[in-house]
Amino acid sequence: MEGITTPPSVSEDSVSKFKKISRRKPEVQEIADGIFKGNVSVLSRAITLIESSLPSHRELAQKVIEKCLPASGNSMRIGITGVPGVGKSTFIEAVGNMVTATGSKLAVLAIDPSSERSKGSILGDKTRMEKLAINDRAFIRPSPSSGSLGGVARKTRETVILCEAAGFNTIFIETVGVGQSEIAVHSMVDFFLLLLLPGSGDELQGIKRGIMEMADSIAITKSDGSNILQSKQALAEFTAALHLFPPSNSGWIPKVFNCSAKENQGLVEVWNLIQDYIEMARKSGYLVKRRQEQAKYWMHETILNSITAGFYGKKEIRDKVSELEEMLFRNKVTPFQAAQTLLDLYFSKSGK
Ligand code: GDP
Repeated sequence: MEGITTPPSVSEDSVSKFKKISRRKPEVQEIADGIFKGNVSVLSRAITLIESSLPSHRELAQKVIEKCLPASGNSMRIGITGVPGVGKSTFIEAVGNMVTATGSKLAVLAIDPSSERSKGSILGDKTRMEKLAINDRAFIRPSPSSGSLGGVARKTRETVILCEAAGFNTIFIETVGVGQSEIAVHSMVDFFLLLLLPGSGDELQGIKRGIMEMADSIAITKSDGSNILQSKQALAEFTAALHLFPPSNSGWIPKVFNCSAKENQGLVEVWNLIQDYIEMARKSGYLVKRRQEQAKYWMHETILNSITAGFYGKKEIRDKVSELEEMLFRNKVTPFQAAQTLLDLYFSKSGK
């Protein structure tokens, strides 16, 4: 009746030793020093702290970020987007190996807020970039998989700081072409590259105008084999379409390229263009301005997210929301009156 006691599979001694090690909290400075030395396993563990939901981990992570902040900022941050199947990972693998061959250190990050639902996080599967995954000068980190887009974006932005402090001078941030996540990536990179498939005409209509407007350049992928003609047609059409947009604040006119990651065609041209752009933006001061605008955007975005979460986090507000929604549908109240009622309720409660 007492059951069977399981014999210890490890000696008491080794257990107590393990406990001693695991109980010892890593020091902030120790982690920061590991990062400054470019120690990738320390970097990985620090990113895990950023992604953790445990308050003690987050607290430690914030202290590490603070230490790393002065050593950050010295990288080219490049966003890469496109629908699933457009060839993002093949492109990143090919360009990534090209970039590291010139001596650069490359970190590949991702933003994929859908990954928790789909359980198939982009970049989660390292076989997608086989060579880059074993490249000493490259560091691949899958998208943080938990939380809202705002949360995932914040974690990625903080990860950029650590990667830069670890000496990665080129950062790729990949995202899937689903809308909101592009805005998040666009708001944390120096250059935003849109990958498009070599369709034309119909496809042009399907692309969200907003995404084309955000692009600093467009690369039409898979320009090889039987796609070549279509690809060239698409190049002409997208080039014409881009002329319809107002010029960007930097004065930069986005270019369209044909490329094939499979046949290594057009990649050098795309990479040279990105470097030219960043050189130009550095010289003109636009790079600093863009980063300052982004920092401001994230500060306000964080405030908005927190306030919204606090607002809808209150049960009485949620109850009142349902009630007012019903009234809205029955034309008993205008949306503005309904909003005012909710705000009055919130501020009267929080003011007490
Ligand atoms: P992702 O979902 O955007 O990351 O796309 P992948 O890089 O996984 O590529 C999707 C498919 O397109 C794969 O079957 C690739 O082999 C193929 N592909 C990627 N790049 C090229 C290319 O340059 N040429 C051709 N012909 N196929 C490609």
